[in-house]
Amino acid sequence: MALLQISEPGQSQAPHQRRLAVGIDLGTTNSLVASVISGSATVLKNEQHEWSIPSVVYYSASGEPVVGSSAQENAASDPFNTIRSAKRLMGKGSDDVSNSWLAEHYEFDFDSGSIPAFKTAAGNRTAIEVSANILSTLRSTAEKTLGGELVGAVITVPAYFDDAQRQATKDAAALAGIHVLRLLNEPTAAAVAYGLDNGNDGVVAIYDLGGGTFDISLLKMQRGVFEVLATAGNTALGGDDFDNAVADWLMEQSGVSALPDQGARRQLLRLARSLKETLSSQQTAPYELNLGESLMFRGEIHVDTFNSIIEALFKKTLPSCRQVLRDAGIAKSDVQAVVMVGGSTRVPLVRERVGEFFEQTVLTDIDPDQVVAVGAAIQADVLAGNKPDSDLLLLDVIPLSLGLETMGGLVEKIVPRNTTIPIARAQEFTTYKDGQTAMALHVVQGERELVADCRSLARFELRDIPARTAGACRIQVLFQVDADGLLTVSALEKESGVVASIDVKPSYGLSDGEIEEMLRASMEHASEDVQKRALAEQKVEGSRVVEAIASALDADGDQHLSSEERSEIDALVASLKQSLEGDVSDNIKLAVEKLEAGSSVFVERRMNASVKELMAGQELSELERKLVTDTNVED
Ligand code: ADP
Ligand code: MG
Repeated sequence: MALLQISEPGQSQAPHQRRLAVGIDLGTTNSLVASVISGSATVLKNEQHEWSIPSVVYYSASGEPVVGSSAQENAASDPFNTIRSAKRLMGKGSDDVSNSWLAEHYEFDFDSGSIPAFKTAAGNRTAIEVSANILSTLRSTAEKTLGGELVGAVITVPAYFDDAQRQATKDAAALAGIHVLRLLNEPTAAAVAYGLDNGNDGVVAIYDLGGGTFDISLLKMQRGVFEVLATAGNTALGGDDFDNAVADWLMEQSGVSALPDQGARRQLLRLARSLKETLSSQQTAPYELNLGESLMFRGEIHVDTFNSIIEALFKKTLPSCRQVLRDAGIAKSDVQAVVMVGGSTRVPLVRERVGEFFEQTVLTDIDPDQVVAVGAAIQADVLAGNKPDSDLLLLDVIPLSLGLETMGGLVEKIVPRNTTIPIARAQEFTTYKDGQTAMALHVVQGERELVADCRSLARFELRDIPARTAGACRIQVLFQVDADGLLTVSALEKESGVVASIDVKPSYGLSDGEIEEMLRASMEHASEDVQKRALAEQKVEGSRVVEAIASALDADGDQHLSSEERSEIDALVASLKQSLEGDVSDNIKLAVEKLEAGSSVFVERRMNASVKELMAGQELSELERKLVTDTNVED
C-alpha cells in the first residue's frame, strides 16, 4: 500500500533522490570506499574489480599520478617515485621524518615549508597531496559506481591521530574535492559495522592491527549509543613490521650480507609479505627470490618459524591492551566481545594470543579489512540525511589531555584525556601583575605536569585587558573540541569583553613522540612530576609575593615606612629572591612566610590609610585563582 509521507522541508527523500555519501577507510597500506546501497553497506569495486587499493601513488615526470595496484608495480623498478605509507607522515614535521624509517626509503625536501615533501619526478609532494591523490581515485570509483556526485564522505582516522594529523586528513579531502561529513575513529567505525548499537549493552574491545598502525579501544554501548571509554595504541606498529622482520630472516637464510639497492629490498619485502599472508592459511610456504646471479635463494618457511619471528612484535601490543582496561577501570571479564580489525589480524597467532589475553574467542565474522569502511559508509548514510529517524549517535574521546601553560611552566589541564567529544570546557584565569594588559596563552597537549614535557600546540595573546591590580581581572578561557577532534581555544576578559581565539592547527610534528610513549612517560614520572610541580608552584607563589611587595613599596613605601623598616623588608625580599634561585621548596616557603610576617605592619598601615578602596573589588577567591603568564614577565 502506498502511503503519503509528510516530512520536514528538505528532509523528503524519495529512494531515487538518495544523497550519495560514502565511507572511506584511508589506510596506511590499503584504502577502501563503501556506500549503503539498497539498505546494506557495500564495499565498492573499481574498474579492475578490486575492492581495496594499495595506498600507493606513482609520480612520473610526465602525466597524471598513478594510484593503487598499477602504482605498486613500479615500487621495485622506480622506488623513489613510488610513494607508499604516506599516512605515517600526515601532520608530521621534518624532525619526525628524519627519525622515521621512511627517511631511508625516500628523498625529502625539508626546505619548502614547515611540511616535509617527498621528492618525486613530478616535483615535491607532501603526504597531504599523496593522500589527496588516493582520495580522488576513491571518489571517482564511487561516482562511477553510484552514478552521481557525492554529497560527502565520512573518512576514518586512527583513534590516536592528533589534531595535526586530523587536520591534514581534512586538507587532503579538500584537495580531492571531497566534502568531509565527519572524521570518524576507525575502531568506532568497526563497532558501527558490527551493529553493536543494536546489541546488548556492555563493553567491547576493538583490536585493530593494520599495516602501519595499531589501535586498541574500549567502547561502551548503552541504549544504542556508543561511547569510547578509552583508547591506546602505537602509531608505528603493524604488518609492515612483520614484513621487515621476515625480510631480515630471509636475508639471514640467504647468507648475503647486503642488498645491491632499494629496489632489491622492496622485492624482498614483497616476498616477505606474500609469505606472511600465505602462512595465515597454510602451515608452510615455499619461497624463491632471484635478484641477479649472485643473489638467488630459495627455501621454505614454516608457520612456527614465522610465529617466532613476529612474536616480539605482537607482544608490543599487549601493554596498550592493559592500559585501556586500566584507564577505563574495566576488568577483562567485563569485556563482552573483542572485535578483530585490520589485515594483520588475519594472522592466526594474533587472533589466538589476543583471545588468550582477553580470555575469550575473538570476533572475526566481518572481513577485518572491510569492517572500517563498512562502518564509515553506514555513518555517512546517516549524516547525509538518508535516515532521518536514525538515532545512531557516536561519541569519541580525545586521546591526550589538553591544557594551558600557567606560571612556573606548569600545565593546567582543562580537558582531561579520554573525555568524550564534542566538548566545551571553560576555566577562569587572572592576571599576575598590577597593570597587566596582555596575557600569553600557550595551549599544550600531554599528561605530564610541566610544559617542557608536553607537546606545544599553539600560542596566542589576549591584548587590551583593562589595567587592574593583579588578580582583579577575570579571564575566561574556553576549550572547544568539535566532533572531528579539532580544537578551538578562546579567551574572554569579562569586564571589557575583549576576546582572542585560535583554531588549533597545531605546529606540524609530534617529535616522533608516539602518544603511547607520552603516556608511559607520564606514568613513570608521576611521583617526580608531583615534586617538580610542588617546587614550581612554590616558586610562582614566591615570585608573586616579591612582585606584590615591590609594587606596594614603589607606590607608597616611603609614606608608611621608616628607612630602618624599609631595609628590613628589603633584606627579606632579597633572601626570598635568593631562595627562588635554588631548588628547595621548603626554603622558598620559609622565606615567603618570613617576608609576609616582616611586612605585615606595612600592609596594615596601607590598609588603614584608606587603601581599602583599592582592595575592595578584590576578593580572596580571586587571589587564589590560577595565574597565567604575563607577556611582560616573559621577555
Ligand atoms: P591499514 O589499515 O594500515 O591500511 P590493513 O588493515 O589494510 O592496513 O592491513 C594491511 C596489512 O594486513 C598489511 O601488512 C598486509 O600484509 C596484512 N595482511 C593482509 N592480508 C593478510 C593475511 N592474509 N595474513 C596476514 N597479514 C595480512
Ligand atoms: Mg586500517
